[in-house]
Amino acid sequence: MAPPYTARMKRTHDALRLDVAAFIADAAQLSGDWPGASLQRLADLQAAPQDTPLAAVAWQALGQRLPVAAGDAELWLHLHASAQVWLTCQRCLQPFTVPLDIDQRLRFVRGEAQAEALDAEIEEDVLALSKSLDLRDLVEDELLLALPIVPRHDACPQPLPVPLGEAPAPEDVPERENPFAALQRLKSTTPGGAGG
Ligand SMILES: [Zn+2]
Repeated sequence: MAPPYTARMKRTHDALRLDVAAFIADAAQLSGDWPGASLQRLADLQAAPQDTPLAAVAWQALGQRLPVAAGDAELWLHLHASAQVWLTCQRCLQPFTVPLDIDQRLRFVRGEAQAEALDAEIEEDVLALSKSLDLRDLVEDELLLALPIVPRHDACPQPLPVPLGEAPAPEDVPERENPFAALQRLKSTTPGGAGG
């Protein structure tokens, strides 16, 4: 039996056990921050400097019913999340932070079979409706997909580490001449001197 209207309007939604159909029917919104360590798979991939806690993941979810001319309304979930993750630069091997930002539209349909069929047809991801979807797990999936394949600084802040036994000889770079000294010398050789 359907709950009375007022009760439906007041029902709360749990991001970690989301009744997706109810969330979308309510056009509900949820948002918050999850501690970085609570996204276990993402945390395991990170290489933060010692004593540096992982940054929290800020997230937002929004349910939307999209009426269509014929047939059932489309059921959509908009997911947005951002995080700063610690990765190891593959060039200089130093830890650095990479901003991750996902903005995803997911469509929900009844049953795995329909989800698979539609997923092959449309560009957006299609999932089967669930009574207890773990949004954190879903956000973590998307963040993992957004990781750079080869994390690298745009410009490494430190010289590249030198393999042991291959220390270079001190570089034989001539000292740059002080430009004022050069100017002074030029003046002193100019005929007529400073004038006056
Ligand atoms: Zn680097």
